[in-house]
Amino acid sequence: MSLPREIVVATGNPHKVEEIRAILGSGALVLRSLDEVGGPFPEPEETGRTFQANARLKALAYARATGRLVLADDSGLEVDALDGEPGVDSAIWAGAHGSRAERDARNNAKLAERMRGVPEARRGARFVCCMCLADASGRVLAQARGTFEGRIADAPRGGGGFGYDPWLWLDDAGCTAAELDPATKNARSHRGHAARAMGEALRGIP
Ligand code: IMP
Repeated sequence: MSLPREIVVATGNPHKVEEIRAILGSGALVLRSLDEVGGPFPEPEETGRTFQANARLKALAYARATGRLVLADDSGLEVDALDGEPGVDSAIWAGAHGSRAERDARNNAKLAERMRGVPEARRGARFVCCMCLADASGRVLAQARGTFEGRIADAPRGGGGFGYDPWLWLDDAGCTAAELDPATKNARSHRGHAARAMGEALRGIP
């Protein structure tokens, strides 16, 4: 078998496709969105209680549905003072209804509310991303994980990125993840780390 050339990125989130493409896409590796290969496909229920379990179930379901090599990711925010919440529920923490932008706004309002009065020392948090690559025959070919450490800011800042980005304060950069330019975010982020690890794993697949 030769090196896989075309991989379907199984996510409906255009920000994620863009970020993963910027990191992994190259002459040797063509990344397609679900729409580009004939979607929409039925969305599997994300019943896993870990990021890895959800990435795996999405990769396997979409690989079967598309008949192609599929890369799926599951990601979210873990806040120490909230015992790891919102975790795997990050996308729908404040309810599953409404558009992506409406969900993000509600999630961020909930985070502000839950973190009110939490002292500096207990505001540690991180984004986590797990990726899984599966083929149409139901084989998992590779898995990867990345984290992006920071603290929950006192107030949201910045208009870049998506989701909880305006709340993740980066001490060394003196700004939030939403204030990073896309290339810098990709260089540091959970998704960047996981995608580069996946790129390494792909090179080892005959
Ligand atoms: P998923 O689509 O089930 O993986 O859910 C991911 C959710 O976690 C998103 O809706 C965001 O709320 C959050 N999230 C994941 N990655 C990021 C990121 O890079 N920045 C901000 N929020 C993120």
